[in-house]
Amino acid sequence: MKYSILSNHVGGEENSGKGPLLDVYSPLNGELLSRVPLSTTEEVDQAVRAAAKAFPDWAARPIKERVQVFYRYKYLLEKHQDELAALVVEENGKTRTEAVAEVQKSVEVTEFACALPQLTAGEIEEVSRGVECRSDRKPLGVVASITPFNFPNMVPNWTIPNALALGNAMILKPSEQTPLSANRIAELLLEAGLPKGIFNVVHGAREAVEAICDHPGIEAVSFVGSTKIAKIVYRRASAHHKRVLALGGAKNHLIVLPDAHEEMTASDVAASMTGCCGQRCMAASVMIAVGEVDNIIEKLCAEARKIVPGENMGAVISRAAKERIEGYITEAAEQGAEILVDGRGATVPGREKGFYVGPTILDRVTPEMRVAREEVFGPVLSILRVATIEEALEIENASEYGNAAAVFTQSGGLARYVAERAGAGMIGVNIGVPVPREPFSFGGWNQSKFGTGDITGKSSVEFWTKLKKTTIKWNPEARTNWMS
Ligand code: NAD
Repeated sequence: MKYSILSNHVGGEENSGKGPLLDVYSPLNGELLSRVPLSTTEEVDQAVRAAAKAFPDWAARPIKERVQVFYRYKYLLEKHQDELAALVVEENGKTRTEAVAEVQKSVEVTEFACALPQLTAGEIEEVSRGVECRSDRKPLGVVASITPFNFPNMVPNWTIPNALALGNAMILKPSEQTPLSANRIAELLLEAGLPKGIFNVVHGAREAVEAICDHPGIEAVSFVGSTKIAKIVYRRASAHHKRVLALGGAKNHLIVLPDAHEEMTASDVAASMTGCCGQRCMAASVMIAVGEVDNIIEKLCAEARKIVPGENMGAVISRAAKERIEGYITEAAEQGAEILVDGRGATVPGREKGFYVGPTILDRVTPEMRVAREEVFGPVLSILRVATIEEALEIENASEYGNAAAVFTQSGGLARYVAERAGAGMIGVNIGVPVPREPFSFGGWNQSKFGTGDITGKSSVEFWTKLKKTTIKWNPEARTNWMS
């Protein structure tokens, strides 16, 4: 085993969990990396108590003082970029380039958190003669963040800098499939000067998540993962009167019009469907070909064939994921889809125990097929052919998800027409992965997100704080007013 057994991180101390241990394998080669404790309800409670103890002092500090920690944290993320990326590569299986980009996104979110004092100043107004009202943003208390396997560094950092800079204390429950990055993040936060207990890591799976949803000491829960579990967490934590924001899965449609730029569209669509092995909620999953776009499809297949597992493409997370993805491809072929590029059975010499699926492009898929409707979460693109933009929009709008959608065209008018009518929270025009960059916020629609607001950017400020409104009168003359 490459690393020692992981500990929880509670009150600034490593705290070996009492729950059963789960093996953590590298998807790259099947190597046993570590063992992660599946924490119990009691261990979640311990972490909440540590966070609650640390919270008052941290919350009482002015925000300008709190963000100093995040200036140092940003520097540490940059200083350790290569090491953090290497950890992501090992535990998640993505490429080094992708892992570096992930850490860089964590840096960007941290930069945003450093700017929060400029964005969160309250308001003050004389509302009657001699009477003024002011509003101030206050932290919620102890909050929790539950994260998925596909971005072990970035997704935790979507929540950590903003929630903590705004004065909260946090319990992070990372994915049990990729738990290593979280402990390193905890170390760097301590090194940056974060007081002990403000950030805690509780490893685990179902029991730990349920304990978080139920715990009366936790005020808010953010969740990122599949729609199935997002719904469970949203319902359960809301039932315990918590504020909840639960981001779920995705099925992103790219609408390609005949006037789209050939090279740019082909390379963007190929990058979107294969990046992170298709294991990202912004991945292209369905391409709706409007009219005659065979020239683009041909180039797209050529681009996809240049992407090779083990060279410029990583691994999928597990054997189960590989089998599930290949199952979708086989089923679609049996139902009449034409396989233009087939990524089944991919292996990497010297890494025979790794979990690889190559880029796969399926043509003549129909909207009823499972591969066209369900989240595959692998490097598989389904091409649906339609005659009109209206038909394309109808298919896109019928999806139960609504994370991202994109349109590829050289026409500004058509781009705007599609962008206005697509039913997704994040829209790309000639961009295959339309992730909004800070200060814009990240979040989908429909079954891709449950709760109000978004998880990053300005929108997250609302989620991680509550408003205090104070009405003030010092001047006795103000008595003449009806407010007195
Ligand atoms: P997942 O839902 O299986 O796991 C997410 C978290 O839920 C993990 O921490 C896991 O331990 C926990 N969990 C799993 N089963 C549980 C159960 N029965 N009860 C309680 N908790 C449980 O998701 P994943 O496979 O780790 O991640 C992939 C999914 O995440 C995809 O669907 C992807 O689209 C989605 N995702 C969405 C976004 C977004 O922004 N919308 C971003 C990244 C990933």
